[in-house]
Amino acid sequence: MTPLPGRRHARGRRPRPRIPDAALPPRLACNSCGKPLKGLKLYYRVKAQITCEPNELSFTEGDLEKDHAAEVERISREAEGRDPKELEEEVFVLLDYYLCVGCKERFVKEAGKALPG
Ligand SMILES: [Zn+2]
Repeated sequence: MTPLPGRRHARGRRPRPRIPDAALPPRLACNSCGKPLKGLKLYYRVKAQITCEPNELSFTEGDLEKDHAAEVERISREAEGRDPKELEEEVFVLLDYYLCVGCKERFVKEAGKALPG
C-alpha cells in the first residue's frame, strides 16, 4: 500500500490544547499586600485554627428532666436569621495565609498587641 501524497504530519506543529483556567494552580501572592511571591527567596505561611473550647460539661438531674425537644426548638429559633458564616465562626476559624517578609513582620507585631506580654 502506498501512502497518500501530501498527507505527512509535521511533528511539533500541532497547536497545544488550551488548559482551562480552573486547572491552573492559583498565582502565589501575599494575602496581605498582593505582592507576587514566586521567585522570592523567602516568604511565609500562617496556618492557625481557632476552636471553641467549652468548659467541662456537667449534667444535673434537672437537666435530664428538661423538655429537650423544646430546648432544641428554642436554640433553633435563636439561630434563625443569623448569618451561617457567623455561627460557624463561633466554633471554628481556620486561618491560612501566605505573607511576604514585610507583611509577616507586621502580622506578628499586630498579633502580639492582642496578647499580654
Ligand atoms: Zn505582603
